[in-house]
Amino acid sequence: MKVGFIGLGKMGSGMAANLLKAGHEVTVYNRTAARMAPLVDQGAKRATRPAEACRGEAVITMLADDNAVSAMAFGAEGIIGNLGKGAVHISMSTISVALSGRLAAAHAEAGQRFLAAPVFGRPDAAAAGKLFIASAGSPDGVSDCMPLLEAMGQKVFVFGSEPPKANLVKLSGNFLIASVIESLGEAMALVGKAGVDLSAYVDFLTATLFGAPVYNTYGKLIAERKFEPAGFAAPLGLKDIRLAMEAADSLRAPMPVASLIHDRFLALLAQGGESLDWSALGQMAAKEAGMAAPEK
Ligand code: NAD
Repeated sequence: MKVGFIGLGKMGSGMAANLLKAGHEVTVYNRTAARMAPLVDQGAKRATRPAEACRGEAVITMLADDNAVSAMAFGAEGIIGNLGKGAVHISMSTISVALSGRLAAAHAEAGQRFLAAPVFGRPDAAAAGKLFIASAGSPDGVSDCMPLLEAMGQKVFVFGSEPPKANLVKLSGNFLIASVIESLGEAMALVGKAGVDLSAYVDFLTATLFGAPVYNTYGKLIAERKFEPAGFAAPLGLKDIRLAMEAADSLRAPMPVASLIHDRFLALLAQGGESLDWSALGQMAAKEAGMAAPEK
């Protein structure tokens, strides 16, 4: 398919590369132009303005947050003003339920289609085409875009025809991951302070009752204190908890654990965690238990 890709950060670079590998004709745009060069080397066309990435059957956004997606979609040079009638905007960033609803309405008004397709998986999974994609939008939009989604993900799940539902599902998932990071951090501070070997402890957990990828991935990162370079930066983690809480507010669904994790993220950022991976949340309990980081 002829597709535009806007947002070549840690996730978007690998995703756009997989579209090229699958034989799609990809035009890339990124605010920092230097990030386009590796994709151009792999066969992508370079857009000098976002509008130039909107000339195909679909345009994908994989941008940081609501502000970035709003700027690209609604701005003067933006997607809504430039995408053709019947073409699809596939929004794959983790954005708010409210913005997803506004985008769906604005695209419908402009005679375009809108699909929410946020993802599970870190940059390594994005590069390997192994993302899990939670999508929602009109059935024809989902089926028309399936070749694109399948080039980027190992499995695509469909949550009906209302795009904000997929965004809510994604936010609920990140809330669960952050809860695991926090509770693993507390459990590992407990046993670690008593002298239990943390790698052996994570092996034990994941080989017995906790064999899920989140325990495996984050248990290892916490045991090795490997929080740099960030695969998913802590400020983006805070953003997602905030968005989950906003959705919870409007649905009148209390989430006391989310409120706690929100404050844990604030403390992490206040203590210099701005550039760390969000798994550094799992080190807070060890710090509070007076456990020093091992010598490097
Ligand atoms: P990143 O910070 O590496 O990349 C962000 C991209 O957004 C860059 O291309 C940047 O140029 C662009 N951008 C930021 N602000 C902008 C603005 N105002 N105008 C135009 N462009 C702007 O982030 P990432 O890790 O690639 O994450 C991208 C999205 O995917 C986020 O919504 C994130 O929550 C989500 N996500 C990330 C991961 C992960 O593990 N990194 C996993 C799943 C989902």
